[in-house]
Amino acid sequence: MSEPDARARPGLLVVISGPSGAGKTTIARGLERRIAGSVFSVSMTTRPRTDRDREGVDYFFVDSDRFEQVRADGGFLEWADVFGRRYGTPRAWVEQQLIEGKVVILEIDVAGGKQVHERIPEMLGLLVLPPSEEALLDRLRARGRDDEDEIARRFAQAKSEMAEARACGAYDEFVVNDDLDRAIEEAVAIVRRRRG
Ligand code: 5GP
Repeated sequence: MSEPDARARPGLLVVISGPSGAGKTTIARGLERRIAGSVFSVSMTTRPRTDRDREGVDYFFVDSDRFEQVRADGGFLEWADVFGRRYGTPRAWVEQQLIEGKVVILEIDVAGGKQVHERIPEMLGLLVLPPSEEALLDRLRARGRDDEDEIARRFAQAKSEMAEARACGAYDEFVVNDDLDRAIEEAVAIVRRRRG
């Protein structure tokens, strides 16, 4: 008997990063919808849960002790401290999905993307960019989620993160989100091309 299809095809790890407000979550979820056999990796975080967050869908929300325990046990493929809050990618789950031939989508920051690239150099690194700095600032404000101090902090962080992503070698594809539908199309085409 022949092997099931999923096994005939190697898995692909897709790391999507970009500044807050660039639209990377929407693009990552768009990919998950459009690419057959793709799965979205749900990270563990110590940041507080907001009204919009769904437990187990957007994140697994845990306290610092639990996060440390998982980290100490080697349970994260990568982890990072973002604005004093920790985020980590579940290692065993991701590895299992890749063995099963899935396209595994990680929506993580650049520090995390670099760590994954060191471990799994064949990953596809996709950086989502805003059309301009002004557009990024407008989008951060339009989210209505943060106060001006937080917006200024995220804007400064976004600029240094984009520079770091361009320099570090983990990201080989850059998608400018000038129009969401178009950007999703472009991301889908990139993943399909890489998957063969
Ligand atoms: P937010 O709190 O706005 O959902 O996410 C803040 C930042 O943390 C975003 O840049 C997001 O991509 C990143 N992030 C989310 N999960 C992870 C993770 O598991 N690892 C890393 N390194 N970054 C993550």
